[in-house]
This record gives sequence, C-alpha cells and structure tokens, in this order.
Amino acid sequence: MVSAMEIYQLLPQAACKECGYVSCMALAVALLSREKKLEDCPSLFDPKYADKLNKLKELLAPLEQASETGLIIHDEKCFGCANCVVACPVNVANDPTGSAIGLGPKSDKVILVIENGVVRCLNPNECRRFGPNRILCNACTATCPSKAIEFV
Ligand code: SF4
Ligand code: SF4
Repeated sequence: MVSAMEIYQLLPQAACKECGYVSCMALAVALLSREKKLEDCPSLFDPKYADKLNKLKELLAPLEQASETGLIIHDEKCFGCANCVVACPVNVANDPTGSAIGLGPKSDKVILVIENGVVRCLNPNECRRFGPNRILCNACTATCPSKAIEFV
C-alpha cells in the first residue's frame, strides 16, 4: 500500500499553503485518506512538476477505486475462496442462511459476495467501517489468504 511519505516525496514541498494545509506532509496524509485531490495543490500543475504529477496519478490510481469505506479489491489476487464472505460479521448477522454459511446471498444487505469467482462489495454502507461512527473491523482482510482485499 502507498504511504504518506511516498506521496510527500512527489509533492512540490514548497509549503505554499494553497491547499489549505500548513505543510505538504499534511496534504500527503489528506491525499492518502482521500479527503483531498491532486487538483487541490495548484503548484503541482506547474509544468516543471509534470513528471511528479504523472507519478502521483499512477500512485494514487488504486485509491480512486476504493469504496466509501476505503475497501479495495485486487481482482487479480482473489481466487474466490469466500473466507471473507463467511467471516464478515454483517454478512453473518444479515444472512445467516446464505453467505454466512458459504451459500449464495439470501439477503439484500450482505456486503461481500462471490460473483464469477471473484469477491464483490455490494453494500459498502452496511460495513462497520462506514460513516462517522465506524468500527475498524478487519474480519475480511484478516481472513483473506492472498491479500486480495485491503482498506486504504
Ligand atoms: S470490514 Fe468488517 S463489516 Fe466491513 S466488509 Fe470487512 S468484515 Fe465486513
Ligand atoms: S478476497 Fe480473499 S478471502 Fe475473499 S474470496 Fe478473494 S481470496 Fe478469498
């Protein structure tokens, strides 16, 4: 996973505060948490930073796929074992006779399901990580043997 330091090293490091933060490191943290976008740093769009901007776009691209909870699915690593589907406490609570025991979903409130051999996140707003009162649940990521899912 990308770190704030990696992002920081590609920022102008001018501390111009145009992004609203006192330091480029603070902006790097905000970019990592998706609270800010590259467009929030006007200096970065100076032609002299074109290489850095391109590298940042590449580095941050996976974060753009993240759901509202920060969940990223790496399709190429998922082999559909369904460990995460069965381990998710919300799946278990909402779908005890379906995905909780490894069968197809019988509730429209399940979060994780397997479709065509790959995990899918159907209802991110049901996840314990969703919203201001989120709980840092990690049952799905902890039980994945191939690191196919992560939170950013
Ligand atoms: S973080 Fe917890 S609630 Fe959210 S999808 Fe993963 S296991 Fe389910
Ligand atoms: S994300 Fe991991 S645990 Fe879930 S189905 Fe894919 S490989 Fe299995």
